[in-house]
Amino acid sequence: MSAKSSQTPSNATPTQVANGVYQLPLPTPFAVGDVNVYIIMDNDHMTLVDVGPYTEEAWLALNQGLQVIGKKLEDVDQIILTHHHVDHIGQLERVKQVTQTAVYAHPLAAPYVELNESFMQFHDQFFTRLYRECGMQEELLDVVKRYRGMMNKFQQKSSVDYWLEHEQVLPHLPDWQVIYTPGHSQSHLSLYRLADQVMIAGDHLIAHVSSNAFIEPPRDQSSTRPLTLVQYRTSLEMVAAMDVKMVFSGHGEPILNHRKLIMERLQKTWDRTADIRRYLHDGPKTAFELAALLFPKLYLKELPLVISETLGHIDLLVTVGQIKVDNREGVLYYQL
Ligand SMILES: [Zn+2]
Ligand SMILES: [Zn+2]
Repeated sequence: MSAKSSQTPSNATPTQVANGVYQLPLPTPFAVGDVNVYIIMDNDHMTLVDVGPYTEEAWLALNQGLQVIGKKLEDVDQIILTHHHVDHIGQLERVKQVTQTAVYAHPLAAPYVELNESFMQFHDQFFTRLYRECGMQEELLDVVKRYRGMMNKFQQKSSVDYWLEHEQVLPHLPDWQVIYTPGHSQSHLSLYRLADQVMIAGDHLIAHVSSNAFIEPPRDQSSTRPLTLVQYRTSLEMVAAMDVKMVFSGHGEPILNHRKLIMERLQKTWDRTADIRRYLHDGPKTAFELAALLFPKLYLKELPLVISETLGHIDLLVTVGQIKVDNREGVLYYQL
């Protein structure tokens, strides 16, 4: 996520997208633009799905949006988080102070929502080491600090009260089920209503842009890092197998033909692995060198994003045995 110079003004008008479901776009300071939060009304019980970043603009837009449908933050009965990224959860604490309600999320969201000090230290060490293994020069490693600075700016420390798991029925929403869709984030949940086959999919599937399968540290020091793109493809396939009439995303417009879009996304990842194999024809390369070749205009500006994207595709190629890894004094080189 990169900061933009100015925030796109959001019109902060909620749209009813399904029976009892309102989509409300909130402005963010990030290149991705507005983030959609959702309001689910069920028998007068009101659920807020995601809350937006910690900015004055998002705060005003959320309050104004609720007003348009004759509600206010005090009416919210529970909060559900699709995943832990700052554009979705940044202003959770401020919202919670007013709603005084329980927050539900996947257990892996908790350390990020809490900005848990020991976990975040481990997080930073993990990325410093990862970027060194990728062959990144020492002077570029301050990206780890800058990323943390971004989190601290657009997110306040908060907490998760209850954990949600795959296939669990949502509290107070008996028609809705939790679908665990890891890949874009390890904590990523989608919400599915069987009756009319609608899904609130967070950043798992977005119409106008392919979601990044962000590299994340493992849950603790004794585990290895999850292969996020491999995981993401599995989650996409799981959703493709489900009957879904409409997908509501964390950014952009609703998706009508989810299977077609998922097939395009799956195909695109294989196309990129073909690019990587082509670049490896003239000898072994590091992930950083491959990132520079794949994203020549973007790689220095969006390091965490392009390294995630590049490593994810390398993981895919390693998983199917098409490339080999060679550890040269702590830097990993890939070859055909
Ligand atoms: Zn996200
Ligand atoms: Zn997002």
